[in-house]
Amino acid sequence: MFEGLQEKLSKAFKSLSGKGKITEKNIKEAIRIVKLSLLEADVNYKVVKEFIDEVKKKALGEEVLRSLTPDQMFIKILKDELIRLMGEKSQLQMIHSPSYIMMVGLQGSGKTTSAAKIANLLKKRGRKPYLVAADTYRPAAIDQLITLGKRIDVPVYYGDKKNPIKIVKGALKEVKDSGYDVVIFDTAGRLHIDEEMMSELVEIKDILNPDEILMVVDAMTGQDAVNSAKTFDERLDVTGFVVTKMDGDARGGVILSIRYVTQKPVKFIGTGEKIEDLEEFYPERIASRILGLGDVLTLIEKAEQELDKEKMKNLGKKMINAEFTLEDFQEQLKEIKKLGSLSKIIDLLPGAPKVDLDQGEKELKITEAIINSMTPEERRNPKILNASRKKRIAKGSGTSVQEVNKLIKNYEEMKKMMKMFKKGKLPFNLRGFKL
Ligand code: GDP
Repeated sequence: MFEGLQEKLSKAFKSLSGKGKITEKNIKEAIRIVKLSLLEADVNYKVVKEFIDEVKKKALGEEVLRSLTPDQMFIKILKDELIRLMGEKSQLQMIHSPSYIMMVGLQGSGKTTSAAKIANLLKKRGRKPYLVAADTYRPAAIDQLITLGKRIDVPVYYGDKKNPIKIVKGALKEVKDSGYDVVIFDTAGRLHIDEEMMSELVEIKDILNPDEILMVVDAMTGQDAVNSAKTFDERLDVTGFVVTKMDGDARGGVILSIRYVTQKPVKFIGTGEKIEDLEEFYPERIASRILGLGDVLTLIEKAEQELDKEKMKNLGKKMINAEFTLEDFQEQLKEIKKLGSLSKIIDLLPGAPKVDLDQGEKELKITEAIINSMTPEERRNPKILNASRKKRIAKGSGTSVQEVNKLIKNYEEMKKMMKMFKKGKLPFNLRGFKL
């Protein structure tokens, strides 16, 4: 997320490093780079202009704090302005019980997927969600929601699968006195805004009087997303946005323009195709990410939500006691994978080095395939791995005996290290478990 923007902005900071103080002259280049990078990230021109004027005014007007160098000061000003642009963090409103959330947006924006993602998130937080499939326009949308609902164990209402108004009314009868406390309605989009779609949405809104009308927009469509957001908002008075596909090479401009243009907050961002790939939108954390300062809070939250604490504690204990087997390693890989791909994790770390993530991801897959092809006994006691066993494992995992040997060697090295650690003799040259 925001790689291009980050890279360019860091050039702006560099142009200020080593300077004694901020002056009109030395800040000119930095400002020029910031302006260009925002425009290239597809941020609305008017937004960029106002943003730059504000940054300039603050940078020249503000006393450089004694503890900050000019480049740090400039980063601070940019961060504050980015946060101001994106507005305050806005919570999902769930006032009534049951509370109704209506999802709207153009076809392909990720509406159906986001409906299920939000249901999943709310369920994890102890809510009792219920999904309603009222997108009768896109073929397969209803079946898609039914499948997603099954996966997250949330019921999906679809009535006759034909008439959206009937489906919505049927669902309301179904949830009355049912104990479900939040009902999420997927509605029909179109490839382009048209009157038929809008009047259907207005009719559904009038029936539901929902607590939230969330418009889903695709970050990859840049300015178009912002324009359609404006039109939807004028007609439906939406309560907030879900910006999807922030994981792609989306330049991220939508996130920065949408509040300025509509005065409505972004409430969630979609960061992948998987059901867990949804984040609540925290302007301050996103500003940190844009500036390459990382977002450790989100990483910690993800870890708390996804990782099995008991399991991780046990694994840690085993490591400290040098009792860590390949079976434990397999378990650990499974847990870590719940946090998402390596690139997503790295994305959240401040100043993380740009390593070859594809290669790392590939090696992790190989490691996992090899361990999966072992018998439980072999995982607990790799010493029994003779030539014929190694051959079998290589064949089973689609790898080579060399790769199996490499994994065992790395494991032995790690064990040695853990033993030294236990004895308090940590080697100076800490190589870790190199995959
Ligand atoms: P709808 O027509 O608006 O209901 O769109 P869908 O929910 O079917 O989504 C369209 C496509 O976008 C699907 O292939 C989804 O898997 C994909 N998608 C949705 N959200 C995200 C996201 O945050 N990241 C990525 N990479 N893909 C997404």
